[in-house]
Amino acid sequence: MQPENLLLGAIEAGGTKFLCGIADRDGNIIRQTRIPTTVPAETLAIATDFFARAQDEFGPLSSFSVGSFGPLSLNPVAKDYGSITSTPKAGWQDIDLLAHFSRTIDAPMALDTDVNCAAVGERLFGSGQGLDTFCYVTVGTGIGVGLLIDGAPHGGANHPEAGHIRLPRAPGDEAFPGICPFHGDCLEGLACGPAMQARWGVPGEQLPPDHPGWMIEADYLAGLCATLTYIVRPDRIIIGGGVMESPDMYERVRRALVTKLAGYDASMRSLDMDDYITAPTAGASAGLTGALALAYRTVTRQWPMHWSVELPSLPGQPLLSGAELA
Ligand code: ZN
Repeated sequence: MQPENLLLGAIEAGGTKFLCGIADRDGNIIRQTRIPTTVPAETLAIATDFFARAQDEFGPLSSFSVGSFGPLSLNPVAKDYGSITSTPKAGWQDIDLLAHFSRTIDAPMALDTDVNCAAVGERLFGSGQGLDTFCYVTVGTGIGVGLLIDGAPHGGANHPEAGHIRLPRAPGDEAFPGICPFHGDCLEGLACGPAMQARWGVPGEQLPPDHPGWMIEADYLAGLCATLTYIVRPDRIIIGGGVMESPDMYERVRRALVTKLAGYDASMRSLDMDDYITAPTAGASAGLTGALALAYRTVTRQWPMHWSVELPSLPGQPLLSGAELA
């Protein structure tokens, strides 16, 4: 396969929507669509039809990849490799994504987490540009953490699940049992958006900026950042998701993190917190772009670093706006 002839297909598979795209070797999007995530039979059938029609029109895909919500089975030697495994999302347990699409797409395939793909998107176009080791955190209906280490998404026996670590209780939050169906009061069970709603009885966005719930939230997210700092020692921690849209959240997390690090290690004492804890800037389609980049790497064995200069993208502006997505 000559790189100039590459035709890449990818899906950002999220809990509310599937973004599907076809791109050329330079990352130019040729065709795209957005599909609501309902039940697997329906959502996967529409996605399959999209790629089948695209192949009829443009020829066979060279490579295909999916960045999906999880947990996923990513170890190629595992029996269930390519599947969504124990997700709490109804109907999506044990759905073999790669086996499904291999019925209509005869090309090398790759699968990674939605957050690892978003991290790749941030590396190419957003707040991870120029960095080889950073963390990407999203705090919304769950808490997902993507790790880019030495320029590639990290996965060992399978993908990490840093959203489910256990942290000391934040002051004033000793009684809330947490909502994680597996662990109760893990980080996600205490600090995702639905956990805030369960604790306070209203969605987080309805809490006033001075509500004590925000200090509790910042404490938990700073606990995650301290843990990531000690284990990964990243150049940056990018945090996005609906919960971070509250006023002062970044500043609260930075301050709480300084307290938790407690002056240990000179290299951490000198961290510029404004630069260390930042928002994502690659836009709403970072996950799809990252998944397309993963498809590119699957056949070329290298990341498409030339995309980052050839694709028009300004900080904070999505590559594909909602209006552009048919
Ligand atoms: Zn959990």
